[in-house]
Amino acid sequence: MRIDRQGGAGIPAGWSGRIRRFGEAVLDLLLPRSCAGCQGVWLSTAEGLWCENCLRELPWISSPICPTCGTPYPSSPAAPDHLCGECALSGTPFDTARSAVEHEGVVRDRIHQLKFGGRLHWVPALVALLDRTFHSECPGPVDMIVPVPLHVRRLKERGFNQSALLAGRLARRLGFPARFDVLERVRWTDPQTRLNREERRENVKGSFRVNAQDTVKGKRILLVDDVFTTGTTLMECSRALKNGGAGEVHALTVTRAVRR
Ligand SMILES: [Zn+2]
Ligand SMILES: [Zn+2]
Repeated sequence: MRIDRQGGAGIPAGWSGRIRRFGEAVLDLLLPRSCAGCQGVWLSTAEGLWCENCLRELPWISSPICPTCGTPYPSSPAAPDHLCGECALSGTPFDTARSAVEHEGVVRDRIHQLKFGGRLHWVPALVALLDRTFHSECPGPVDMIVPVPLHVRRLKERGFNQSALLAGRLARRLGFPARFDVLERVRWTDPQTRLNREERRENVKGSFRVNAQDTVKGKRILLVDDVFTTGTTLMECSRALKNGGAGEVHALTVTRAVRR
């Protein structure tokens, strides 16, 4: 009899996953869930973690957007998708960048509670938003999912990397491998919240390094982070991945700061 190494002795290969899924299905039936948005209790929706009302009301990013960096144009809702000035003039190291919702309201609160309050139980609800946006906005299957890494000092302070938690769960949901070892943050940077775009760009320059060039060579990579603020971190990661030989880099975040 084959033994599933992760399932424990005596359980045939594949059975541990089936037992777990069966257990989750039974729990779904027995325990009504509370919505990650309004925290109301209901029995089931297709998405499972947000009630239908909250899902409908979330500030989804929608067209018109820049087809490259995903910047939305909320002030000209009738315009078609078109390149933003920055992508048209200087280009970007990623092939595309997309975000699920605007960085505001309940999703912003859930990200803050996850990052700064250690509320890890919000991860599945945030991944549900990434999953939906991956299917509607990203260009098909990828070879690997890579999180934006934290510097080891920040990782020790916080105890976890929220982007790695999001990427790992998204990878399991989509069925693509997650790679936590290919990209490394080699330079300590001060928090960027008070910096403008130019200062952020300088601040993160040369912060990332690809560790496993053989692994990324020619590959299509989905780069995952929690928030797209000015895009400088995602650009710097993408630059490192492309310099390391990556074929395509598509960035995906849960939220995006939108200037109005
Ligand atoms: Zn709700
Ligand atoms: Zn753009």
